[in-house]
Amino acid sequence: MNDTPDTPNANLPRLRGHHLICLTSFKGEGYDEPFVSNLFAVTHRLEDEGACIVVEGLDDVCVACPWLDVSGRCSEPKSGEDEIRRIDALALSLLETAPGDILALNVLRPLVGSPTVAETWRRSACDGCEWETVCGPRWVDLLGGDAG
Ligand code: SF4
Repeated sequence: MNDTPDTPNANLPRLRGHHLICLTSFKGEGYDEPFVSNLFAVTHRLEDEGACIVVEGLDDVCVACPWLDVSGRCSEPKSGEDEIRRIDALALSLLETAPGDILALNVLRPLVGSPTVAETWRRSACDGCEWETVCGPRWVDLLGGDAG
């Protein structure tokens, strides 16, 4: 998709697979101040626009991340590019979406909050993530105290 500032979708946040899920738990935490500031801007745009564009690889969150390397790959030490791509693919599969899709927030939210998606995500993507303690209580709520 090649949206210019004059096209209707130009202001939609561009989000990769796992950020479609992880961003719904964002409450102000992050790697550093520029990263958090950008996350607030992205989440506000998501709220304002009511939709996002699904992308593959680096997205509007990654662009302000201290772990983005010069080649556009994720160098976060606990995950890294291969693991990030794995959970991107898992998220796209669970949400039944693909790069290039426009996903409405009122479709995304219930999908992420559904027990099937929440349980699979919790068990297959969250292990070892440094933000697990931030998102954990949300999954416990969603899964009725069985968030593993
Ligand atoms: S840690 Fe990796 S996937 Fe996450 S925002 Fe940074 S570059 Fe993107």
